[in-house]
Amino acid sequence: MKISKFEMDLQQRLEIIRSQGLYRQLREVESAQGVRIRVEGQELLNFSSNDYLGLANHPLVKEAAEKALRDFGAGSGASRLVCGSLAPHHELERALADFKGTEAALVFSSGYACALGTITALLGKGDVIAIDKLAHASIIDAARLSGATLRVFAHNDPNDLKDVLKWAGKKSARVLVVTESVFSMDGDLAPLREIVELKDKYGAWLMLDEAHATGLFGQNRRGLAEAFELADRIEIQMGTLGKALGSSGGYIVGSKSLIEFLINRARSFIFSTAPPPSVSTAATAAIRIIQSDEGERLRSHLWARVDQLKNGLIGGPFKSQVVQSPIIPLIVGDETRAVDLAAELRSRGFFIPAIRYPAVARSQARLRLTVSSAHSAADLLHLVATLGTLPS
Ligand SMILES: *Cc1c(COP(=O)(O)O)cnc(C)c1O
Repeated sequence: MKISKFEMDLQQRLEIIRSQGLYRQLREVESAQGVRIRVEGQELLNFSSNDYLGLANHPLVKEAAEKALRDFGAGSGASRLVCGSLAPHHELERALADFKGTEAALVFSSGYACALGTITALLGKGDVIAIDKLAHASIIDAARLSGATLRVFAHNDPNDLKDVLKWAGKKSARVLVVTESVFSMDGDLAPLREIVELKDKYGAWLMLDEAHATGLFGQNRRGLAEAFELADRIEIQMGTLGKALGSSGGYIVGSKSLIEFLINRARSFIFSTAPPPSVSTAATAAIRIIQSDEGERLRSHLWARVDQLKNGLIGGPFKSQVVQSPIIPLIVGDETRAVDLAAELRSRGFFIPAIRYPAVARSQARLRLTVSSAHSAADLLHLVATLGTLPS
């Protein structure tokens, strides 16, 4: 059979990906998301989900979604600005603003769409965007698409950021600093106080991505900005509803004018069908749980498990950095070795995928472990014992 040029081109490119140990494939999960999942017929203990508080399967969250499905249907029918701005979206935005203690909130269909729409709305040609070297792909893509001048500062390095801000200050343009509060692939925390001081000193704005901090940090579990008592000095706070909030979608919280501006200018908000109402209602229910005493119980249980793993890893085969969050990368380095280790772990009943380029830098491949409040102490003991016997 003759292969078309198109097919040939694709196959050659796939071969290159394979030869670099970077080939990826989907694995079908046949169960609900959780600590125990069934993957291609095999029961596995899952240490890879971002459902940190186990809310994706919480009975109250599911019940709320079911009710919204019955009352509001499966789809929203149109974009928010046409006729898709349903009561569940507005209720979620009120709940988010109340939870985060801001004037207003706006929901997007994903965190990715949220970064893209917000950054391209705020900045254009002639402006400057300064992002952390390890910022999420959604932020990098948004920065590129915006047309602003992109400057990358060394990871969590305020001195390098200062040089960028000094340089940018000479250009009389808008300057936006973007960073994550808890880094998605390394689990470390941004030096928020220094960053806020610097952006104020140099007249820049800050957009903080709290994707992996919401629900976990701060007195009211709002995120790292609350923990550092800096929330009211940050112009734009972003996050996702798809991680600790157990649902799906992205959000911005901030001033009324910010939200009003995004409704008028964020293209990924304007030109996209509103999120399914049941998904927004699930997120609202999750926020209410996080705000309740149960939210605090879930969080303390999670941190107890994180401590257990942290202590268990001491003296083990993996050098692990300071543990500051439920994201604990075991750095392997070589891509193929990381894939082999992930396969070995799978054969022993664990689901911990290898994370490789382009999710992380080349030769920084890792097993990215995440802990959930739904893990038991016994789950962690089992993991630590297994990690100790991996072939080196
Ligand atoms: C997951 C993630 C996003 C994207 O959010 P989605 O809702 O999954 O699209 C954005 N930023 C960071 C830091 C993330 O980890």
